[in-house]
Amino acid sequence: MKKQIAAAIIALLLVFILTVPVSANPNHNGTPFDYYTAHDTKFTAYSIGGELSYNEYVSCLLVKTYFENISATTVMVADPTAKYNCHSFAWHSQSSNNNTWINMDVTNFFEDTVASVTSELPWNTNTPSGTVSVGDIIVYKFSDGTLNHSAIVYYTDGTLNNTLLISKWGDGCVMIHSVYSGHPYCDSASVKVFRPISSHVLSYTDLNNKKHRLDCSCGYYTITGHISVVSGNAYVCTRCGHSVDIMIHEPEEY
Ligand SMILES: [Zn+2]
Ligand SMILES: [Zn+2]
Repeated sequence: MKKQIAAAIIALLLVFILTVPVSANPNHNGTPFDYYTAHDTKFTAYSIGGELSYNEYVSCLLVKTYFENISATTVMVADPTAKYNCHSFAWHSQSSNNNTWINMDVTNFFEDTVASVTSELPWNTNTPSGTVSVGDIIVYKFSDGTLNHSAIVYYTDGTLNNTLLISKWGDGCVMIHSVYSGHPYCDSASVKVFRPISSHVLSYTDLNNKKHRLDCSCGYYTITGHISVVSGNAYVCTRCGHSVDIMIHEPEEY
């Protein structure tokens, strides 16, 4: 009887752990800072100073063990850490020294910095051979279009069904896993494959009237407001150099 109770408690605990979002907001002494994408788009990211408690660490091990037991392709690569999450691992840095946390509600902040390899693929869609390459980034989205998970292609024969990904599971482990099974993000509605672009060289053109145009060597462009600071008697844009006299104009910051 005691055994049955213990089994029931463990089952309940697992249900609880596996339903807790594994990519939640940082709560380990996260300090917000301005993060700029390759296209100079500003978002708030977090520098993580703390680390998992003992109980949190053990919970993360339980999650990875659960999925290792139900999937032959799910394997742990690195121990749990609260220092970085999946989006940071896929889009920012794969270093074990990474301590940047990028929240999932910062949607689409990266997608204009990479090339689309596929359209949005409904869950369980395979791709023709030759579609997927090692180093590609796979994005998982919910049915409402919000971000669920980001992962990097670790091994592939060119089809999504025969692709292994490497990704960070929230504040848990770095794991290798299949695209459509053996991980906590199978509640996604779609995936999309992106290919990183190796270099982005930016140039700004002053359009006056509170705007400048950004052109990137990759073909991307956008028109945004000046980002001005006080310099002597003028407000000067730190990007395009646009300058106006302090006595005449209000600050031009957007
Ligand atoms: Zn670019
Ligand atoms: Zn400007």
